[in-house]
Amino acid sequence: MRPILLVALGGNALIRKGQSGTIREQLENLSVPVSQIARLSRTFRLIITHGNGPQVGHLLLQQECCAQVPRLPLEILVAQTQGQIGYMIESTLDNELTRLEGQHQKLIVTVLSYVLVDENDPGFLKPTKPIGPVLNEDDPAARPYPTVKTERGIRRVVASPRPVTIIEKREIKKLIAMGFIVIACGGGGIPVIRHGRGFQGVDAVIDKDLASAKLAEEVGAHLLLIATDVEGAAISYGAPGEEFLRRLPADRARECLRKGVFSPGSMGPKVEAALQFLKSGGSRAVICSIDSIEKAVAGEAGTEIMK
Ligand code: ADP
Ligand code: MG
Repeated sequence: MRPILLVALGGNALIRKGQSGTIREQLENLSVPVSQIARLSRTFRLIITHGNGPQVGHLLLQQECCAQVPRLPLEILVAQTQGQIGYMIESTLDNELTRLEGQHQKLIVTVLSYVLVDENDPGFLKPTKPIGPVLNEDDPAARPYPTVKTERGIRRVVASPRPVTIIEKREIKKLIAMGFIVIACGGGGIPVIRHGRGFQGVDAVIDKDLASAKLAEEVGAHLLLIATDVEGAAISYGAPGEEFLRRLPADRARECLRKGVFSPGSMGPKVEAALQFLKSGGSRAVICSIDSIEKAVAGEAGTEIMK
């Protein structure tokens, strides 16, 4: 059996710094990681997850620009981004596989994914997840929603509770066993809480790195690879003495997280996700750039978190 590789693609990596995020830009950006994933499908069974920070924020803004149609809650917008980004990844992967192998026989499916969160999660009280475009520097207090200053600039923030379990884990496991390449947990998954015997959507965006680690754990993936727009985790990021780490022992990673070396809304959850996956029994966890996914799998790029 080929080992299971879960690749998490950053929503920010689909829209690169300085781009407005047209579909042409996003498709072009996607071909970089997806062409590598196509080649990796020869050696691995594959799950692809993806973020949606910029995209879900764009949808939210579009809602607010139009008073004529009813506004949709955030959970519905997350579901929409699973559709739009899932479609873009699926069609790009199909094209790349055809380029690589001619008429290919690979089965690809995008799974609409719910992710359970705890309704008492403290994340509901303090929004931390940046979404949408970088805003101009006008008085943030004048905005009708909370914002945060990120490495990219000022962005809107929404609640981001932790993922408890992936509701479709059994379906995803079955699909993997049947040979499908599965795209799942887009945008961290549609956040739901328990409601009677069923579920109810909530206004939040789950961090896709933490959701990916949970999915990787629950389906028994061997390798978790988190691909983003920087080459890995750095100490003194963006400051004199900046150093991208090639190997990061778990003890040091935990200490750096405590000291806030990795920003809470961006690199922090990636390192945390890697630690969580290794603790749950995963074999390898690497954070790398979307340009160097294959090299990272080969151990030649990125930051490898060590047990
Ligand atoms: P994604 O959409 O891939 O999840 P994020 O913006 O959430 O992207 O996370 C990647 C960003 O993390 C980088 O672009 C970088 O600006 C930021 N970052 C914060 N702290 C660090 C750090 N210590 N090392 C590397 N990158 C960092
Ligand atoms: Mg992120």
